[in-house]
Amino acid sequence: MIDTARYKVKPGAKIRLQDYSTKRDEAADRREVEDCLMPANIQKLSVLQERLYAENTRALLVVFQAMDAAGKDGCIKHVMTGINPQGVFVSSFKVPSSEENDHDYLWRIHQKAPRRGEIGVFNRSHYEDVLVSRVHDLLQSSQMPKDRLRPDIWTTRYRQICDYEKYLWENGVETVKFFLHISKDEQRKRLLKRIYDPDKNWKFSASDIQERKHWDKYMQAYEDMLPATSTARSPWYVLPADSKWFTRYLVSQVLAQKLEQMNPQFPELSGEKRAKIDECRFILEKDGLEI
Ligand code: ATP
Ligand code: MG
Repeated sequence: MIDTARYKVKPGAKIRLQDYSTKRDEAADRREVEDCLMPANIQKLSVLQERLYAENTRALLVVFQAMDAAGKDGCIKHVMTGINPQGVFVSSFKVPSSEENDHDYLWRIHQKAPRRGEIGVFNRSHYEDVLVSRVHDLLQSSQMPKDRLRPDIWTTRYRQICDYEKYLWENGVETVKFFLHISKDEQRKRLLKRIYDPDKNWKFSASDIQERKHWDKYMQAYEDMLPATSTARSPWYVLPADSKWFTRYLVSQVLAQKLEQMNPQFPELSGEKRAKIDECRFILEKDGLEI
């Protein structure tokens, strides 16, 4: 079993993404992962999610960020597969609508924050507002009042995001964040696959090629953002994403460990409710005998 702690970003540390591998761990055995380790994690997630749902007090927010074609969608699909759909809610954040742009950037995010008992998955998130917005300098042409666009706007936003995630935690919503770290060459191969394979054509977007041109700027924005917003309670994990099966396994492992540590419990029945259940059992058992 892999120790996932080494993928965690230390709060405040200076990082270089080139020091984080995009390749899978050589020692990991695909057969073992797919036949044993991954199913075991999914089973664990399913049991723990049922308890989280029954407990109905806390929630888990899972954030996915990545460059295009890094495998967010497939990862969400595979890891969440064994989980009761009633308890999981996936939100994909796209380019904001004009209504969303009429509000502060956390407005649309908080509407999708998970309810108590739920696992909320964010496919992209409020982090776009310190990534794509920064790379393309989107705030200059936005509705933000000019006097709030100080040079330290990104540091201000990191602080706001940390405050927001702290607020969520203080209200029972715990957060785990994944950056799926793909190499530029692996992205090229996957984008080409979207072009060559007719069944994948729908996934291809010419804008992916435009974004790719800004690769280095994105890496810089991630390098700045990750340590500034990785906290003990809401950590970032930088996961190697060149092998899909390995990334999915790591995500399942981190989530299983997170839920184990949260240790949700079925609610205890009050004496009154227990007495009511006994009464109902008596009525139903008697009913059966009369038929
Ligand atoms: P894939 O990895 O398969 O390409 P995707 O998550 O990129 O999936 P798309 O529908 O291709 O999904 O793209 C969503 C786009 O919305 C991304 O380019 C992202 O940068 C953009 N986006 C999301 N949030 C914001 C935001 N707050 N401001 C500007 N653009 C945003
Ligand atoms: Mg895309």
